[in-house]
Amino acid sequence: MNTESTGLFSTLTRRSFLRTATSVAAAGALGDGLDLLAQAEPKFAAILVPAGAHPAVRSAAEILAKKLSLDNDAIKESLDTDTLPKGMISLVFKDAKGVSATLTSSIARDGYAVSAMDGRLIVCGARPRSLLFAAGETHHWLDRTAGTWTRNPEFAMRFASHHGDHSVAEQVAILGANNFVAQLHASVSLKDEMPEVYAKLSPSVQQRLAATEADDMKRNTALVKEFHDADVEVFADLPYGNNFSRWSEGLYNAFLAVYPSAKGTPEEHSWERAALCPSDPATWKLFEAYVRECARQSQADGVACTFWDQFGIFCHDERCQKNGLDQFKNELHAAITHYYAAVQPMGKKLHLRTWSSGCPHWLGADYVHAPGYSNFSQSHYELWSRVINDTPKQILIQTKVYHSDCEPDPRFSTLLGHCKPHPEIVEYQMVGQTIGRHYFPAATVAYTAWTMKKAHELVGVDGGAEISPGGTNQSNYDMYADLLNSVDIFAWRELTWNLNANPAQIYSDWAAQMYPAQAAPHMAKAMLLSEDAANLCWSPLGHGSATNSDFAGDIERRETLLRYTNRYYLPEYAKTLEPTKENVARIVAEKQKCLAGIDAMFAELEAAKPHLTEAQAAEISTRFDWFREFAICNTALDVSLWRFRYLRAQAAMLTTDPAEVKPLAEAFDAVTQHAPKLFAFDPAQKFTCYDVPLGQLRVKPNLGSPVRLMHEIYSKSLAFMEASVGPDYLPKEFIRAEVEINVPTESQRQRM
Ligand SMILES: [Zn+2]
Repeated sequence: MNTESTGLFSTLTRRSFLRTATSVAAAGALGDGLDLLAQAEPKFAAILVPAGAHPAVRSAAEILAKKLSLDNDAIKESLDTDTLPKGMISLVFKDAKGVSATLTSSIARDGYAVSAMDGRLIVCGARPRSLLFAAGETHHWLDRTAGTWTRNPEFAMRFASHHGDHSVAEQVAILGANNFVAQLHASVSLKDEMPEVYAKLSPSVQQRLAATEADDMKRNTALVKEFHDADVEVFADLPYGNNFSRWSEGLYNAFLAVYPSAKGTPEEHSWERAALCPSDPATWKLFEAYVRECARQSQADGVACTFWDQFGIFCHDERCQKNGLDQFKNELHAAITHYYAAVQPMGKKLHLRTWSSGCPHWLGADYVHAPGYSNFSQSHYELWSRVINDTPKQILIQTKVYHSDCEPDPRFSTLLGHCKPHPEIVEYQMVGQTIGRHYFPAATVAYTAWTMKKAHELVGVDGGAEISPGGTNQSNYDMYADLLNSVDIFAWRELTWNLNANPAQIYSDWAAQMYPAQAAPHMAKAMLLSEDAANLCWSPLGHGSATNSDFAGDIERRETLLRYTNRYYLPEYAKTLEPTKENVARIVAEKQKCLAGIDAMFAELEAAKPHLTEAQAAEISTRFDWFREFAICNTALDVSLWRFRYLRAQAAMLTTDPAEVKPLAEAFDAVTQHAPKLFAFDPAQKFTCYDVPLGQLRVKPNLGSPVRLMHEIYSKSLAFMEASVGPDYLPKEFIRAEVEINVPTESQRQRM
């Protein structure tokens, strides 16, 4: 567990206490607030819990004690609330004897209510975890002196991915979540399930699996207990997709040695594989055995499976062509049906993640089908229709809110709201994937606010919301401890409990937890500004960028990405792809707005700086600087790409536009000048979100180089010009000697 005093966990603690201190210390004297901590008298002296209460209640009391700077000795067992003395917080259940109906009547689902009276607080939960939820958001109720405050969740189910660095109870408290998906590793050997396959494994592999199974089971037992002690359920993550050769190469080969007819026949040029044939009964015997064994060893309440790509059973042999199992929607139906058949008799649940992204396209020699993204492929609903209509309704269906990969500001999913009678869950993959991987400020609060509201209308109060907080391709990273991007976690929590929470207020409440009082409003503003700046940085004209935020290596790759992450890949948005001077002007204006937004972020940082700690100021300055340098290069590339597209179209009409040479040369110079400044840092510097100094990170902060792509765009653009005007009329002051301009031949031009 992370015991450092950083991030949402303990900064919440510190700031809540500070606010408690305002009632005794003079309000407004908190300028250098942190020093006041030692002087302030605590407002509460003890926390009372019911005798013999559920472990979750004890954890809630401990989190509260930490926030109030009380020792665990201050947690006392109590049987009744009638004689609650002043300075006490009492944790009770709604069905406990003596708890007034005025307090309990408004509690719904697993919510809670707080009654405040004359220096006493009674916190009443629907069930044990409700008290953890209360402990995670004391900023809403700790300062109350009178009346009753009720807090009920907007969604019956709140799912979260588990983060191993923090205790489950703390994650439950911070997120207000009641279901988790965790890595509960299983060492599947199929020794009991399919001994004939097991026998084909080498003795050394058999021994290794037996040894790791015992270790896995022990670890899983302890972790699952932690979830149940926090009064929440846990699902074990199955391996991604359903390409069995990726799940376990050893078992795959052993299986095919016994059942050779189960080998799949791939479609020619398909990016999807056909490790196994779904028409062969042995295939499903294997899948069921494997899933059952994962479920057994995990000891979880259910299993979670993910079907985005890597289907692995996209088989096109005669059998599948005849019975329709060469179609994605039938394969999905078969897979989900068999997974469910494996876990249902064990009394375990099945959680299914769906998604669709990108229009169909060629990736080298392979065809990417991108099923379920509408327009050129089948619709999201059509892809999942058999699963929705023809599998047991107990299966939970979770869909990413993003209808493209993943942010910034993508279209809303077209599947949400269409999966009934299955319970539906809206997924937020908050990993910063296409907005700088959380190296930079990457707030998505306004987006989460409007999409959460819309999702709730579609999935209803019995539906769910999910969050996966983390950092794609980052090492040593902890989003909870991130002094910038923890705002996205805070916002998700707030909105899943109050759909009408206002984004500006969320930024403000979050900043009040994280920063000294006089810095907080400026940091709230800086992060609010970052949301638009990031969207504009990675999304030229509403189209997307690289899946992992990095620079594309060449034009071909960049144009493939435009197809793949183009969030408006619909005919009505085609005009924004047109290679026109108007679109060049639009993208110039858009990118200027992005850079102006970053300047405004810096202005807020300057205003906050005198009130930040030295470490906070240094970290934020470094990360804002990283963002600015990246954005300068990225905007130069995006604008130049559109100029290139414009000049390519002009060349196709046997003409050109000489006015483009100057801005292309300027973009070239900007990238040349700024590329060496990308991700500059002092190796000794320590960020809140990393557990080691920057120099010791296993994965160095880096998003690739913009130089190669800039050179290609520049040289090919000038080649188009020269093809029309000849070398004499290209203005010399805009020719960059380091780049060779190869005028394309007529036949090359036709292929461009
Ligand atoms: Zn087949």
